[in-house]
Amino acid sequence: MTATVLGIADDRALGGTLRVIVTRPRSLADAKAAVDEVVSAIDGAASRFREDSELSRINATPERQVTVSPMLAQAIAAALRGADLSDGAVDPTVGTAVRLAGYDSDFASVLKEGGPLRVHAERIPGWRAIRFNAATRQLWMPRGVEIDLGATAKALASDLAAAAASKVIEGGGVLVSLGGDIAVAGDPPAGGWSVQASEDSSAPIEDGEETVSIDAGGMATSSTTVRRWTRGGVVLHHIIDPATGQPVAGPWRTATVAAGTCVDANIASTAAIVMGEGAVEWLKTRGLAARLVDREGQVTRVGAWPEPASSKLAPNVL
Ligand code: ADP
Ligand code: MG
Repeated sequence: MTATVLGIADDRALGGTLRVIVTRPRSLADAKAAVDEVVSAIDGAASRFREDSELSRINATPERQVTVSPMLAQAIAAALRGADLSDGAVDPTVGTAVRLAGYDSDFASVLKEGGPLRVHAERIPGWRAIRFNAATRQLWMPRGVEIDLGATAKALASDLAAAAASKVIEGGGVLVSLGGDIAVAGDPPAGGWSVQASEDSSAPIEDGEETVSIDAGGMATSSTTVRRWTRGGVVLHHIIDPATGQPVAGPWRTATVAAGTCVDANIASTAAIVMGEGAVEWLKTRGLAARLVDREGQVTRVGAWPEPASSKLAPNVL
């Protein structure tokens, strides 16, 4: 069997890594251009770190009826759907809580250590405080609510970028990874897209690491181990428990989920971190395959997530 020669482009986008892979290397430049276009549209619509983004402008002017762009509407609709499906474990109104915990700029610029925070911790406003009509794209937000699409926008960008790239490549397939939030489209390579299950999306691809393969849809990882910082000696991270407004203190440090789209995988991976123990049942009920890593590094595989291939033994000749 001849191994498929893949075309790979690496870059940075949305505050993290971007990787585009095509099965037909000659279409790489076209695929990358299509991906870049989608990613910059998402950034302009939904970034919390750009003052000039559509979302930042809306967050700054509450209690007004606004008609949002089709791109932002899609991201808000996906976030609200996630809130509904996860019973509020994933909730876009975590914005203020995320900022007050110290994640107030692109992660590269977040101070890794700082003085104690006086956080007035309280339950977040909750997604039902937002009024949004997906058909008319009309949005209304009460004062004091900041929308954060950090969990949804990146995954949506991967889905839309993979779909856009698959239209411009001449046959074959494409994989888009934005900081480890992965979507694939088109015809997969023989044996499927092999994805390494790492806790850190910037970890190098290495032989012997646990990999799984997917043919379609998406895979996403949420982790409390990479984006973390300390304030007054207290370790904080970027996934907020909507019930307390503070970084989640549950059993899982990393959740990786495969689903029909990257957005759905990401809803489930963020929800799993927030839900804690209850995540296993929730994932099983929805038929999702997942890999959960607890604080000690113990791995729990859920649903159809395969056990890692056992090492091959050389047969003995008598
Ligand atoms: P990653 O960004 O590494 O893919 P996630 O997809 O889990 O991880 O997204 C985490 C981001 O989502 C945070 O950086 C923050 O912006 C936002 N967020 C944090 N907690 C929640 C939550 N409970 N619900 C929705 N979004 C959240
Ligand atoms: Mg994610």
